[in-house]
Amino acid sequence: MTGPARPGPAGDVAARADAGFLHRYGEPPAGRWAAPGRANLIGEHTDYNDGFVLPFALPLRTVVAAAPQDGLRWTVWSELSDSPVEFGADEVAAPGRVSGWGAYVAGVVWALRDAGHDVPGARLAIASDVPVGSGLSSSAALEAAVLAALVDLGGVDLPAERRPRLAQRAENAYVGVPTGIMDQSAVIRCRPSHALFLDCRTESVEHIPFDLAAAGLAVLVVDSRAPHRHAGGEYASRRASCDQAAKLLGLAALRDVPAAGLDEALALLHDDETRRRVRHVVTENQRVLDTVELLRAGRIRDIGPLLTASHASMRDDFEITVPEIDTAVEAALAAGAYGARMTGGGFGGCVLALVDADRADAASATVTTAYAAHNFPAPNFHLSTANTHP
Ligand code: ADP
Ligand code: MG
Repeated sequence: MTGPARPGPAGDVAARADAGFLHRYGEPPAGRWAAPGRANLIGEHTDYNDGFVLPFALPLRTVVAAAPQDGLRWTVWSELSDSPVEFGADEVAAPGRVSGWGAYVAGVVWALRDAGHDVPGARLAIASDVPVGSGLSSSAALEAAVLAALVDLGGVDLPAERRPRLAQRAENAYVGVPTGIMDQSAVIRCRPSHALFLDCRTESVEHIPFDLAAAGLAVLVVDSRAPHRHAGGEYASRRASCDQAAKLLGLAALRDVPAAGLDEALALLHDDETRRRVRHVVTENQRVLDTVELLRAGRIRDIGPLLTASHASMRDDFEITVPEIDTAVEAALAAGAYGARMTGGGFGGCVLALVDADRADAASATVTTAYAAHNFPAPNFHLSTANTHP
């Protein structure tokens, strides 16, 4: 019930990367590097407002098997694509010269070289359990695993705290996708049994205890499979509202409105929609801080109401949820989840629900039944009990 509804490629992901390498290149790889997918526990649309987020690593990962090859040539095979991608020095001299999925790999090579690092030519084979395009950050997992491989193969000295920026640069500048720093920070810096408390203004991180297994808990991730309706345009308009509100308030970012100053800030804004957008961001930042406090005190179950309040705020104030997502949240709560919320940018993507581990199957069954009652295509489930890093 809790496995992916559609079977992925057979076999362990690391074994698939090794076998893919051997099959494609006729020799075993020099080594293997991995990075996980992630879910954001709480803190949505706070990143570009200089606020707080709290992602954790999922037990789903992208594995890169790799070996050096002579000259400045890179050959990349992914089990998701029929044809390998090849590129050389010219294609990584400037952004945008490789397109499609190969751009995520070429972008990492470009970003490393642009930062002055020597990157050896390499052959790579990629296998992944992270669903692509579901909001669990398969893109950052791919960048991080490739980055780790190239750094090790090239003997590059690049400490972990500097890697997220570099991977983000690959995605922003080379691939051309404007993401914040959360995804790359999460997949590179998350630790087992912890969530990553990230201050998006200072980029400082703190590892917060989040040991689901020890508490007999699980996070059920429901991939809503809702089509992303107008997600790009809606995202841009939410960002613009927030920027405009900060400007009207004379602040660098909405992060600078403390929860205690919310009413005062709202009184200065005259448009009801803008007021609701601001209320979401300010209350959401506070919910992240409150969640962190509870987790520090070892009170994981008690974060449930904050998760559910976050969902209500996204649904009613920020208006970024869709019927499939709201249905999954309501069904999970009806099945006894301590809390449930959409995770990710919205208009589709995933829901996460905090449940007792032995109730996870029942919760996923309830969500499936609710989906069927609405004639939505069946959702996919991923269960996280150990939130371990590969
Ligand atoms: P998400 O990060 O939420 O999964 P994105 O749209 O940001 O979704 O990134 C998905 C893209 O990343 C894919 O369309 C593909 O180009 C690339 N990608 C991710 N994982 C892989 C993989 N294992 N093999 C090839 N390309 C991948
Ligand atoms: Mg992504």
